Amino acid sequence: MSIQQKVKELAGKYRDYMIQTRRYLHQHPEVSYKEFETTKFIKSELDKLGIPYESPLETGCVGIFEGGITSDKVVALRADIDALAMTEEGEAKQEFLSKNAGAAHCCGHDAHTANLLGVAHILTELKEHVEGKVLLLFQPGEEKLPGGGRLMCESGFLNKQGVQSIYGLHTSPSHDPGTIASKKGSMMAAPDEIEIEIFGVGGHAARPHEAVDPIVLAAQFVSTAQSIISRSIDPTDSAVITIGRIEGGTAHNIIPESVKLWGTVRTFTKKNAELIERRLHAILKGITEAAGGTYKLDYNYGYPAVLNSVKETDAVFNNMISLFGSDSVIEMTAPVMAGEDFAFYQEHFPGAFFFVGSGSKASDSQYVWHHPKYNVDDRFFDVAAPLVASLVVNDSQ
Ligand SMILES: [Zn+2]
Ligand SMILES: [Zn+2]
Repeated sequence: MSIQQKVKELAGKYRDYMIQTRRYLHQHPEVSYKEFETTKFIKSELDKLGIPYESPLETGCVGIFEGGITSDKVVALRADIDALAMTEEGEAKQEFLSKNAGAAHCCGHDAHTANLLGVAHILTELKEHVEGKVLLLFQPGEEKLPGGGRLMCESGFLNKQGVQSIYGLHTSPSHDPGTIASKKGSMMAAPDEIEIEIFGVGGHAARPHEAVDPIVLAAQFVSTAQSIISRSIDPTDSAVITIGRIEGGTAHNIIPESVKLWGTVRTFTKKNAELIERRLHAILKGITEAAGGTYKLDYNYGYPAVLNSVKETDAVFNNMISLFGSDSVIEMTAPVMAGEDFAFYQEHFPGAFFFVGSGSKASDSQYVWHHPKYNVDDRFFDVAAPLVASLVVNDSQ
């Protein structure tokens, strides 16, 4: 029997374990950086398998799995463990709805965690086929800045362990169970937030010459800002600037003192994000100075972009093809503009992030991430567990 077949067989053996574990975690969600009980649960599962672990952060942990083939190879497999601060609903989840008020696993991190625990079981049975060391990285705080991935990198733990590559995945409601989707290079955007205030001089609406109208300045700014995308960003790159909210004024006949604007910037390189920040300042300065107003801009950098390395992404694609055939792999042609803190790891180590199909009508699991009815089709595990395990086992013995 090939190693791929063995991995598939073991994934079948632990299928029920993963489904039940996910349901247990789903009923006991904890929000970002407060995953205390979740961490205890993960550690007790690793204890049962005799896998040692360390705790570089207050919550979450890293299982250290020693393979049977001596080598200095170190691969990290990452699962995020946090839930969202929200209330869930959904017929399909009635049997295992959240028991913790104000917290819910509506981003599938319960499934990611259960899957990595399933992988730990598979690897334990295939120890002789695992080369070097595998880090089972249960990461807290994906949903909230500064990002557990960032804190994990800053802890220095992964460097100390000598990590050479890293893999991460996400449930995907828009892909069918049985498929995966990924992309070499930029796969997910860096989401930054901007907050702007434009100050003018208030006055009577009929005497604008005695005032400095911040509403006119804001209008000029909103349209000129779009020229950054078309005139300053390389046309072969992608970037977005969206002003999502404007607030200013109180009545139809008063020129207000100031206008506030909130928006988001999405880019795939730090260079472009910094360029947009500089250009926003220049446009705001020019427009306000010309009219006698002033401005304030807060540009808040969020997570970096998810940038998949070629070798690791090929490893994901090739393993998936040999497990489930070429029809099971979707090579994405365009990146998604959502963000993910897995990107922090990729600033330090080559790695690949991929979507595993988890959406179906049958299990009512096609709702978008963070929707109260978000659900994961159990068939997610039939792909996720064998695929992740296959990335760190080999046939050589
Ligand atoms: Zn999320
Ligand atoms: Zn997520």
